[in-house]
Amino acid sequence: MHSIEDVRHQPRAQRMIQRALAADRLAGALLFAGPDGVGRELLAHRLAMILLCDARVERCGDGIDGLANWGGPVADACGECENCRACVNRAHPDLHVVDRELVKQHPDPEIRKRRGSVFSVEVVRAFVIDVAGTKPVMGRAKVFVLRDIHLMNDAAQNALLKTLEEPPARTYLVLITSAPGSLLPTIRSRCQIVSFDPLPAEFVAERLAAMNPSMTEDQARLCADYAGGSMGLAQRYIDDELLQHDAAMAELLGSLPTGDITATAKRMIASAKKLGERVQLDDEDATDTEAQRRGLTSLLGLLAMRIRRSMRASVDGGDGHLAASGLRSSMTGSLRLTPRAAGDAVRALASAEWQLQRNVNVQLCIESLLIGLGRLIAAS
Ligand SMILES: [Zn+2]
Repeated sequence: MHSIEDVRHQPRAQRMIQRALAADRLAGALLFAGPDGVGRELLAHRLAMILLCDARVERCGDGIDGLANWGGPVADACGECENCRACVNRAHPDLHVVDRELVKQHPDPEIRKRRGSVFSVEVVRAFVIDVAGTKPVMGRAKVFVLRDIHLMNDAAQNALLKTLEEPPARTYLVLITSAPGSLLPTIRSRCQIVSFDPLPAEFVAERLAAMNPSMTEDQARLCADYAGGSMGLAQRYIDDELLQHDAAMAELLGSLPTGDITATAKRMIASAKKLGERVQLDDEDATDTEAQRRGLTSLLGLLAMRIRRSMRASVDGGDGHLAASGLRSSMTGSLRLTPRAAGDAVRALASAEWQLQRNVNVQLCIESLLIGLGRLIAAS
């Protein structure tokens, strides 16, 4: 059997879907909103299986942990019928997973040559709108899972509106995004919104440790904590070698206020360039300047997290489980800031990020940030 319960730690989203299925009033257009890597795609896949299954199973939902006191009936996919087997093999002709990368399979060779950094209107037309107008191949329904729809430009979003407003019979569209606020309001208003929560940090740490055998338990916890409950973000931190960059930022903070500011700024910019190279692997359209800016933004984020940690440590008088795992000194370094200075430091980081977005001289901007941080540390 394949169940919505296969998704972990999302009782709100699961209850909403089960309630809609039980009342037979599931909207044709759903917006799954929440951080990357918290189970949105798995839930979309399980829902698609339930909608396409020939022998849907219904059982009483009493006492099911994952559904937190849901007392109504729970629908599952049988997992054995022809439809279910095709879904499991990711080969069901009525389950369409659509993302920007599909531009490479567009029927028009001229469009195929384009880069896939934007979710374009051509992809929406060819792989959603045109297909939605046809009958299901295997009979029961048709399900579209649209990934990362915040990468759609306005033209693509506008093209989708009519299909969202009046999906053809037995057609369901599940739109997935980590940035619902950046969508056109007209998209949001046409969808039933299903919100996903960040995962518990302990759960993310366990999964990370299992997926990355070379990682220590402490490193997994650190990444999980930084990722704020997003498995996707945590894994990206690992792929971007952010742990090493984080250690470099700890060293940098430790060298303030006495170190050579120009040399420290240069080292930080060199780290940002390295991170920028990773950005360009994911986004071919990013220029060197843009990639370096995004790298710097990540480093500023790491510095801000470190300062917040030191704040938390001073408020708690010890970081609870972090102190117990012996991580405290490595996570907060020897950084000692009064709460007020820590607040000022976080604001200085935000201001530097704002200036970087406005194409100021990068070296000068980082130097002045480091001088400011140095003063705050010296005064604390
Ligand atoms: Zn089935």
